[in-house]
Amino acid sequence: MHDDITLTTGRVQRVLTERIWPAVHGTSVPLGVEWHVLPGEPVPPQEGLALAMEPYEVGTPWGRAWGTTWFRLTGSVPAEWAGRAVEAVVDLGFDASMPGFQAEALVYRPDGTTVKSINPRNQYIPVVDAAVGGEQVELLLEAASNPVLLGHDMFRQTQEGDTRTSSPRPLYTTRRMDLVIFEAEVHGLALDVEVLLELQAELPTGRRRMRILQALDDALDVLDLQRIPETAAAARTALVDVLASPAEASAHEISAVGHAHIDSAWLWPVRETIRKVARTTSSMADLIDRTDDFVYGMSSAQQYAWVKEHRPEVWARVKEAVASGRFLPLGGMWVESDTVMPSGEALARQFSQGQRFFEREFGLRSHGVWLPDSFGYSPALPQLVRRAGFDWFFTQKISWNQVNKFPHHTFWWEGIDGSRVLTHFPPMDTYNSQLSGEEVARATRQFNESRHATGSIAPVGYGDGGGGTTREMTGKAERLADLEGSAKVRWEHPDAFFERAREELAAHATSDSAVWVGELYLELHRATLTSQHKTKQGNRRNEQLLVEAEVWAATASARTGADYPYDELDALWQQVLLLQFHDILPGTSVAWVHREAMEQHAAITAGAQEIIERSLRTLVGEGDTALRANPAVFAQAGVPALGVAPASGPAAAASTLTELPDGGYVLANDLVRVTLDGAGHVTSAIDLATGRDAVAPGREANVLQLHQDFPNKWDAWDVDRFYRNSVTDLRAAEKVTATVDEGVAVVTVRRTFSSSTLEQVITLAPGSRTLEVALETDWHEAEKFLKVAFPLDVRAEHMAAETQFGFHKRVTHTNTSWEAAKFETSMHRWVLAEEPGFGVGLVNDSVYGYDVTREVSDDGVAPAPGVPEVTTTVRLSLLRAPRFPDPETDQGIQTHRYGLVVGVDTAAATEAGATFGARPRELRGGAGVEPLVSVSGGVTLSAVKLADDRSGDLVVRVYEALGRRASGTVTVAAPVSGARTVSLIEDDIEGGAADLTSDGAVAVELSPFEVRTLRFTRA
Ligand SMILES: [Zn+2]
Repeated sequence: MHDDITLTTGRVQRVLTERIWPAVHGTSVPLGVEWHVLPGEPVPPQEGLALAMEPYEVGTPWGRAWGTTWFRLTGSVPAEWAGRAVEAVVDLGFDASMPGFQAEALVYRPDGTTVKSINPRNQYIPVVDAAVGGEQVELLLEAASNPVLLGHDMFRQTQEGDTRTSSPRPLYTTRRMDLVIFEAEVHGLALDVEVLLELQAELPTGRRRMRILQALDDALDVLDLQRIPETAAAARTALVDVLASPAEASAHEISAVGHAHIDSAWLWPVRETIRKVARTTSSMADLIDRTDDFVYGMSSAQQYAWVKEHRPEVWARVKEAVASGRFLPLGGMWVESDTVMPSGEALARQFSQGQRFFEREFGLRSHGVWLPDSFGYSPALPQLVRRAGFDWFFTQKISWNQVNKFPHHTFWWEGIDGSRVLTHFPPMDTYNSQLSGEEVARATRQFNESRHATGSIAPVGYGDGGGGTTREMTGKAERLADLEGSAKVRWEHPDAFFERAREELAAHATSDSAVWVGELYLELHRATLTSQHKTKQGNRRNEQLLVEAEVWAATASARTGADYPYDELDALWQQVLLLQFHDILPGTSVAWVHREAMEQHAAITAGAQEIIERSLRTLVGEGDTALRANPAVFAQAGVPALGVAPASGPAAAASTLTELPDGGYVLANDLVRVTLDGAGHVTSAIDLATGRDAVAPGREANVLQLHQDFPNKWDAWDVDRFYRNSVTDLRAAEKVTATVDEGVAVVTVRRTFSSSTLEQVITLAPGSRTLEVALETDWHEAEKFLKVAFPLDVRAEHMAAETQFGFHKRVTHTNTSWEAAKFETSMHRWVLAEEPGFGVGLVNDSVYGYDVTREVSDDGVAPAPGVPEVTTTVRLSLLRAPRFPDPETDQGIQTHRYGLVVGVDTAAATEAGATFGARPRELRGGAGVEPLVSVSGGVTLSAVKLADDRSGDLVVRVYEALGRRASGTVTVAAPVSGARTVSLIEDDIEGGAADLTSDGAVAVELSPFEVRTLRFTRA
């Protein structure tokens, strides 16, 4: 036979695209249309529904960037359509090649109830399933003309990302607003043909593929292209046999879950996300009503809270669908946050605020953490996920790695403390599946655990304004349930998938079971540790202030009976948690979002400060004694951790400052002696106890370095490794001054470079090992990366970097591609380069990125002929200047504080990091305050607060910070009658009983990096 596969597939493709799909909505009549363009921001639906309307002609351009237009569509169903399914079709001017990111509309009935949304690939509105004829139709559309910022012309600089700079011209032109007959049989035929066409493309040339091709030819032979609705049924008959042939016994199994990845803010502001969520949830509630087995999963308590507050009519439908088990609250977090940068307490609150919301509103909890799309995952997460009561973890993003292919899809992920959580990455490599044949085959082909496991998860649906899952996707799932040559697809709750995966892994547990230890480093988007500095600075500041506010408020409650500000703290935490969303904290949103983030962080700071000041005033009482409150979990300035004491002068002798003949300075105290050259660079920093110099021989530390930084893609997200190839050291000092101020040696250096200026105030305080630098930069650069370099005379095999509740180590060499890919990595408050007996730390108040390189000199001179000299250079990442999506990223005044800590180990680095950003507060009052909670024996405090259940119980979270075993106590200096260990989110746990001594103490044994949450009943 003269076979020609291409001829058949070409025929089927053309008929499907040009004839069958367009015939789904065949016969139509135009609707009458009126409109009202809002002058500014959106109005509540009740106002929108009542707006005065003017006639509108389809084809008229509409919608300036970020505008809202209300349309009213009216008409009546023609009498001759009796018995037919009738829909409205609305094309707002969509580009169907992009599923989301464009204009969208939510469709209301005149009574204010919602029907569903209109999206680029989801343009229909159900009107009546079986018309009688003559029905009056009235629909109202709240249409948002959102600009496309990441379209075909990707990563081009644009002013459209903020309503303050966007252009007023209309962005869209409507094409169609019609009443139509929905041809269900044609729709069925289109899906039959598409599924088979896509399936055969993935099959080897053999009996199954050829049978499908023949059936497709047979179907098209009986399909009359001028009478498609009339002949669709006959064409479908030709496909019955090939569609009925069942899947192979060991076919891969796909657990599909309806999904729409809606970024809580990104290329649009939060106010638009609120509407995006309402539109998509409305459509998903409609699809649930029209199907039997489809389930839709949505994460982020915040998104549910928005629907509840802003679209009560949609909320009622969501609640109903959740109650029926078809709408699945997933993830148990407040938002899908970044997990690399938030503090341990903040991650704990993501879980507690998320689960509390789900419990309160739906009476249920999530069993797993759902994070398809944040930029790398902290090695502290497995423990936090488990201790918060979750059984599983889900992500997909690591498939975006630039270099290394992640080896597992279903595996145990082990964190810094040894906790393991069952983790799944979909081998389909997407969180926006359309259930195409190509995607389904890819999942089958790529799945790494096929030896032991039967299947994988597929999140199915268009996100970010795509409207979620479509009826075409549910139609495909129906056909792929049991189809020869394909993976088997079924809708199910991810919990069911993970339960099966757990059993399958357990049944085949061998020494080479899939386990990944440590961070899930994303080999991409590394610059998200630095972009939008003020958003990051606000985050660090407010995480800390809220923990402090809880400490003083809890202390005031226990000591004076003051009211604990539960509502205020919940509201402030929820704002911080939202701003940790994975496009806000990483600095990858439009200008509008970051402008609002800055304003919100300022408001959160004010709110937290108010609670702190109010609580401290209550605690110290009336009086004029100079007092010092220590918010740090380590004693400092003569004040115990979390206590208030009379202010005393420095215990150590004043630091000295000596000017050198070459214009440099020596700053010294009892512990360290630091030499600066005439340009303000650190040429030596000697630990007086050991005589060791922190600075590499012949090198200078605290040198600012400027790189060209223009990545190939994803400007705000990415720094590409070639950025290191060119660098300018900012050596010239315009002005250097020095003084001793109240015992603190101070050198101030002013520099001008390129279009910017900066000032470094370098200080050495009495009794401190930390040479502190306060940096203020007036930053006016484009596509540059500013770093500050510290070449250290330390032969460090590893760098230790703080993460949540502990630290982790990364090797300093690049032996393998995995290590080479980590050329920009994350930290919290400190990093440490250490060799046995001597270490040098760098601490900071708002930095999250650093890099490290090692140098080996064997120049025959130092330290002795033939002896190599190995040094380690650590650089903090300070500022970037990407132009997309915010063309003005980080321009203007920026501040940082960082410090070089000379002669420390992990314990001292931990303490230096914790105190660096939590300086004592000076205040006046009657008397000092004994700390409410104190710890001993290597136990570190993290939080002291009243319980979320508002019982008045005291909750104390502690951890082991150094990776060793701790044996100590937690003591409460207030009347308490009982104690127990609870989960990270304050739930009772099995075996949680703890013995309380008569003096309010509990003995605590902690494993390396263990986090423990204790709950004390107030007497
Ligand atoms: Zn995302």
